[in-house]
Amino acid sequence: MVEKSANLAIISNNTFEATKAVNLHNYDISSALQTTLEFNELISIFSSKIAEKIPHSAYVYINTEFGLEVKSGVFTRHSCNYALKVEQQQLGELKLMRNHKFSDAELQLLETLLCCLIYPLKNATLFHQALKMAYTDPLTQTHNRASFNDSIAREMSLATRNAKHLSVIFFDIDHFKTINDTYGHDCGDITLASNAKWIKESLRDSDIVFRYGGEEFVILLSDTDTTGAELLAERIRASIESHTIAYGISTIKVTASLGVSTLRNDDTIESFIKRADGAMYIAKNSGRNQVVLAK
Ligand code: GH3
Ligand code: MG
Ligand code: MG
Repeated sequence: MVEKSANLAIISNNTFEATKAVNLHNYDISSALQTTLEFNELISIFSSKIAEKIPHSAYVYINTEFGLEVKSGVFTRHSCNYALKVEQQQLGELKLMRNHKFSDAELQLLETLLCCLIYPLKNATLFHQALKMAYTDPLTQTHNRASFNDSIAREMSLATRNAKHLSVIFFDIDHFKTINDTYGHDCGDITLASNAKWIKESLRDSDIVFRYGGEEFVILLSDTDTTGAELLAERIRASIESHTIAYGISTIKVTASLGVSTLRNDDTIESFIKRADGAMYIAKNSGRNQVVLAK
């Protein structure tokens, strides 16, 4: 039911019947865990609900699939770690800490209580996977246009409220149609995916890249002024120029044109985007493979 190895327990799908039985005995915990699909809230609820039975000073929850690391409390010397898994699905790792050792009886109880957590965690995982798919472009694994529409509105209101800069880069591959026409659509798709990867490699974690249209990408740069955005756009341009795509016996080089704009006080979403798009077209008309700042 519960495999243990060196303080690490894998809760497997064999616990299903046990989970149901345990849920009846821990109705309070189970029902509290039904109230949210957010990982951080689930872990926080679980920690507070078990605090009386298993006192602990801190918890850490790591979920690599969603890039999450949730921490709370005072980190102390003793810990117990659980890799959570159900029906072959990884649900992350939970660590509890405190300044004296967890007893065997406490660990046993904790393992029983963890059964209340795994199905809510599984539901949260399914929910976030669906959300991720709805907002991801499958070819380039960047955010899609629907995600862009949500994000730009949110980033603009955050920037205005916190008096922070916000910049946007419009990126368009040069003569992309020629690649499709010469090497075929598959090669075009590989080129698109490669460009997305090279753009992502040039960015910071807080920057978001979206596939805006066919061979156009938009990069949203929070807390970034014009100088910073121009530097980044130039870094992206140079990276694209420096790479080569191998396709069969052919080697292909591409370039891109980029337009940059920074949010102004009187901007609407449309005016902010239009300036960057306009700058990108000036880059096209000025010979391509260059960065242009919006006036
Ligand atoms: P420019 O330098 O002026 O930007 O020229 P371009 O050829 O890059 O631009 P144009 O807008 O003329 O052509 C874009 C092409 O991108 C046309 C379209 O068929 C292709 N395209 C759009 N989406 C996809 C896709 O998902 N995969 C592939 N392979 N091609 C696509
Ligand atoms: Mg193009
Ligand atoms: Mg285009």
